[in-house]
Amino acid sequence: MKIRAQIAMVLNLDKCIGCHTCSVTCKNVWTNREGMEYAWFNNVETKPGIGYPKEWENQKKWNGGWVRTPGGKIQPKMGSKWRILAKIFANPDLPEIDDYYEPFTFDYEHLQTAKESEAFPTARPRSQITGERMEKIEWGPNWEEILGGEFSKRSKDVNFEGVQKDIFGQFENTFMMYLPRLCEHCLNPACVAACPSGAIYKREDDGIVLIDQDKCRGWRMCVSGCPYKKIYYNWSSGKSEKCIFCFPRIESGQPTVCSETCVGRIRYLGVILYDADGIEKAASAPDDKQLYEEQLKLFLDPNDPEVVAQARADGVPDAWIEGAQRSPIWKMAMDWKVAFPLHPEYRTMPMVWYVPPLSPIQSAAEAGKMGIDRDMPDVRSLRIPLKYLANLLTAGDEEPIAKGLERMLAMRAYMRAKTVDGVIDEEIAARVGLTGQDIEDMYQL
Ligand code: SF4
Ligand code: SF4
Repeated sequence: MKIRAQIAMVLNLDKCIGCHTCSVTCKNVWTNREGMEYAWFNNVETKPGIGYPKEWENQKKWNGGWVRTPGGKIQPKMGSKWRILAKIFANPDLPEIDDYYEPFTFDYEHLQTAKESEAFPTARPRSQITGERMEKIEWGPNWEEILGGEFSKRSKDVNFEGVQKDIFGQFENTFMMYLPRLCEHCLNPACVAACPSGAIYKREDDGIVLIDQDKCRGWRMCVSGCPYKKIYYNWSSGKSEKCIFCFPRIESGQPTVCSETCVGRIRYLGVILYDADGIEKAASAPDDKQLYEEQLKLFLDPNDPEVVAQARADGVPDAWIEGAQRSPIWKMAMDWKVAFPLHPEYRTMPMVWYVPPLSPIQSAAEAGKMGIDRDMPDVRSLRIPLKYLANLLTAGDEEPIAKGLERMLAMRAYMRAKTVDGVIDEEIAARVGLTGQDIEDMYQL
């Protein structure tokens, strides 16, 4: 076993209000320049929905991530090393500019100098390609939210299984959620495996995945290989670029820009200690549904003295070990099991995790359709179907999602009893396998 430290992020989707502040602040700091107009290192998309770039989840179309070979090994879905090299001359798995919606054209000067007005601005977006005002927007990362009832007929969400299509447009029954996305800084990054120039690397000390701009030759195999479509080709420099997890800020003890500016305070940063030697075995699990559990097995308890001793022997600095001990990521992913990886079936072992949204489920609970005293909810009675969340976060396994949501529900019930009725009800916590102190800690986060 070889222990390494990894910086990671958990986003609590229950709190995201879809304001896009994270995307705009990230854009202004890292990609507000020629060649990167269309690129969003961080974007927020409406789910269920087509996403950004268009249909990024459709790996049948893009061949991103890894597959398990009949011999039990894993290889990039786009093919072996030789096939990747052959694709340099004709790569069929590359998104085109039209798959990336409209380039960013925010007019800051006008914002400062515009005359005072009684009405909100009504300017339609302008096409960066033709310069024309756009009369009609054909699609977008938040397009389904605008569509309402039309959505069920027109959505191309490949992850749509389990969603009752006929509820769209019935506003009291419908559901949607926001999914903020950035590079996952994967433990098993498909982008690194796909790069013929060896330009992409994962930093030993904190696991941040970076592209060496001097080595990049602009082959764009990484764009195809990344199943999350979080690498962008800069048409001006001829190199590929990606989220750098704000490493200059992290190195000076500051949070990422998206975390610091998040209006909903939904983002939690922390450190995980993991077994670097176990990655290949975990990523080649026979069944997709095992991948979430296999990833959990890689994480090591930072409070275990044996783990601490070996981490030190393996060269993990004390500051990172202490960071892992204080980390909210460990608590959310391992102790409370309320945070889950995005599409673990891509086998990249992603390190940006999500707490699934609860609010519409709260309404189901109030209607008596789901409660913490029931073993498993009836998935057909929920406004956000468990199946949909499970397809997004656990490769289709509904049980861990149901348990995570029940714990979030228990937290509400416990805190309501405490703050409204003045009662400390340990029974509520015990029903979901937690203590009152766990619930208090969860609530503080
Ligand atoms: Fe690489 Fe990031 Fe894509 Fe993972 S999410 S494959 S680290 S670009
Ligand atoms: Fe969601 Fe925070 Fe981004 Fe707003 S800033 S969209 S609340 S993640």
